[in-house]
Amino acid sequence: MAIFFHWDDATRDLWDTAFSEAGTTADIRTVDNLGDVNDIEYAVAWAAPHGYLGRFPNLKYIFSIGAGVTHITEDPDAPLDVPIVRLQDDMLVLDMSCHIIHWVLHFHRSYYLYKQYEGEKKWLRHRYPDNGDRRVAIMGLGQTGQDACRRLRDLGFDVTGWARSPKEIEGVRCLHGEAQFDALLAEADILVNLLPLTPQTENLLDANAFTKMPDGAFIINCSRGASIVDADLLNALESEKIKAAALDVFRTEPLPHDDPYWDHPNVFVTPHAAAPSNERSAAQFIADNIRTAMSGGTPTPIVDLQRGY
Ligand code: NDP
Repeated sequence: MAIFFHWDDATRDLWDTAFSEAGTTADIRTVDNLGDVNDIEYAVAWAAPHGYLGRFPNLKYIFSIGAGVTHITEDPDAPLDVPIVRLQDDMLVLDMSCHIIHWVLHFHRSYYLYKQYEGEKKWLRHRYPDNGDRRVAIMGLGQTGQDACRRLRDLGFDVTGWARSPKEIEGVRCLHGEAQFDALLAEADILVNLLPLTPQTENLLDANAFTKMPDGAFIINCSRGASIVDADLLNALESEKIKAAALDVFRTEPLPHDDPYWDHPNVFVTPHAAAPSNERSAAQFIADNIRTAMSGGTPTPIVDLQRGY
């Protein structure tokens, strides 16, 4: 049995160590060392070059090294009859919540103004609303969205969440379905996107959505860039309907040099860094799942390709 592995080469050693600590002694193959493709039964991958995953006739499962799976499903030659298992990892969830809390506080308390004052050597303290008077709206109540809701609620924010199906989270108003999307937008002083990219969520945040948000709202996008219509967001920033945006994900990554987001004073760009997969915990999760598969069980969670996540 062999495992096809693809990740950033720079951290390959860390992954090797993590896999061996997790008890995986399998023969690990990479694009430079495929060997006999018939041996490969499991693929563990992030953004493998298109065409590779379809080359393994005995592939049993594809493990995504990340919560999103569009890096697999967008490959026109991906073997979509092979089950895809996404990463479910407490470390990733915690990292994502930390990223969100950072930007919520940054916007809520206008910390960006202090950088400006510092440049002017101005000792000026400004006021900000009580946490309970700031409405934070979270799109997506999966593993990351639910955790972010709870942590922001515990900080005293007024939190509303939105998912496809009904949810119950203590102290959080939970909305669901298309019919309640406008109600979510109306409460979004700060809007956080944690939706997977699907045909239903692509271009969801467009000019029409922005008009339904409170004036001067903030956006934090940490799921996928294509949820936002970029030209519409730039217009909304221009008119100050949207005051600022913290964007971690983009339609094209790396963000091209001539992209207007780079130079926009009210856009904060991070390079898909909200919740990078942690080698140790991800390798443990995947190794446990491979052991489950080898002993005849079914790894979880398997992506529902009809739903798109
Ligand atoms: P989950 O699959 O656990 O949760 C997805 C949530 O989105 C669910 O609550 C689901 O609703 C909801 N949802 C899906 N489609 C719709 C829709 N059409 N309308 C309303 N709600 C919808 O995802 P995760 O929390 O693990 O991750 C979310 C995304 O974050 C990932 O897909 C990935 O793209 C991104 N990500 C980004 C990272 C980064 O570093 N920037 C790192 C990790 C993830 P329901 O519960 O009803 O099914």
